[in-house]
Amino acid sequence: MKKSVGVITLGCDKNRVDTERMLYNLGCGGFDITNDYAEAEILIVNTCAFIEAARKEAIDVILAAAQYKAGACEKLVITGCLPQKHADELKDGFPEADAFLGTNDYDKICDVINSLYDAEKAVKEESEAERAKKSPLERIITTPPHYAYLKIADGCDNKCTFCTIPSIRGAYRSRPIDELIAEAKELADTGVKELILVAQDTTRYGIDLYGEYKLTELLRELAKTDICLIRLMYCYPELVTDELINEIVSNSKVAKYIDVPIQHIDDRILKLMNRRSTGEQIKRLFSKLRENHIAVRTTVMVGFPQETEECFENLYEFIREYAPEHVGVFAYSKEDGTPSAKIKGHLSNKTKAERVDAIGKLHLMNREAHNRAAVGKTFKVIYEDVDYDKNMFAGRTEYDAPDIDTKVYFTSDFADVGEYYDIRITAGDGYDLLGEKV
Ligand code: SF4
Repeated sequence: MKKSVGVITLGCDKNRVDTERMLYNLGCGGFDITNDYAEAEILIVNTCAFIEAARKEAIDVILAAAQYKAGACEKLVITGCLPQKHADELKDGFPEADAFLGTNDYDKICDVINSLYDAEKAVKEESEAERAKKSPLERIITTPPHYAYLKIADGCDNKCTFCTIPSIRGAYRSRPIDELIAEAKELADTGVKELILVAQDTTRYGIDLYGEYKLTELLRELAKTDICLIRLMYCYPELVTDELINEIVSNSKVAKYIDVPIQHIDDRILKLMNRRSTGEQIKRLFSKLRENHIAVRTTVMVGFPQETEECFENLYEFIREYAPEHVGVFAYSKEDGTPSAKIKGHLSNKTKAERVDAIGKLHLMNREAHNRAAVGKTFKVIYEDVDYDKNMFAGRTEYDAPDIDTKVYFTSDFADVGEYYDIRITAGDGYDLLGEKV
């Protein structure tokens, strides 16, 4: 009899793509996929272990998932970054879990589950030919049908001193262009309109495989497919070149949007973080992006060791002056094994929390100013969802990524999910916008 499997995915969109590939392999392996965790006979938690908060969330979710073993759940499997980094501690701490699988072993998921059932195998594996017939995509897309993530590389070579990712995910590995184009075409065939390019660092794309950076070429090639919009996430500031900016501006299929996590602006902190850009270079880049009307998302980290009041003020002033459209802020987390853990001068949790709060409030003020400037303008908005509390349709513009950026709530007599509508903005609503269909 086929066993049913549910997968809970945590962390970033790169982890989501790993989950989607795992779901595909499980489907090919003959398992039934279910969204109903209470009914799943096998429950998988695909974890993130980037920082302490992510690990804490993962542990809470594993504990909650273990409760299902009192019901239908026969096997609990933990996958992803957490077992990749902390396998031994996990084995001791979670006797309820039946197997652990690191980030390099996602493809072994069916074998691992089958081995848990000994002679009475959970399923019969399908042949390669049967597998190929099912879907050439090798992923089960978990996002709404009109958009999907395209993971163009895995791993990272950047060695930021606070980050555990290189030790978890290994060296940077680009996927070949032809493989990515084939995947984009298949996604377009299934109705995907927007492709969101992700990697730990998308700007480094190609260097390991072709000996040169190839992100701009990749954008040009992707634009030849039936995909309508291509969005760039996780760009390293130093590698956002004029050529790349020109491509964003001139290529009608590339969203006028870029995600450039800067982490900080103060030169001393940037150096301690082992970031390669200086504050001045980042400022020049952000001015250029503004001149070219490209919406910017960035992420900053506060409370890094030795971040004085003055260093923090420099960051605060930068966010005030440059007012990126979208800002994510998180507190430094001391991670074992990272060079920054050994730097003297760690800050208290209270100071870190106050600084997160200050940047968060500043960004909200900036966002409200952006929203006021949008009132009266008309934007193309892709409709994605209904908000039953507001009793309005919800979507987003080209200048906003799903889940993390500004939403546009609008009134209309009807809307089809995944279709674009002209929406006139009538008011701001915190981080979001309100409008009406024109
Ligand atoms: S660029 Fe830096 S922060 Fe991002 S994954 Fe690589 S090492 Fe970590």
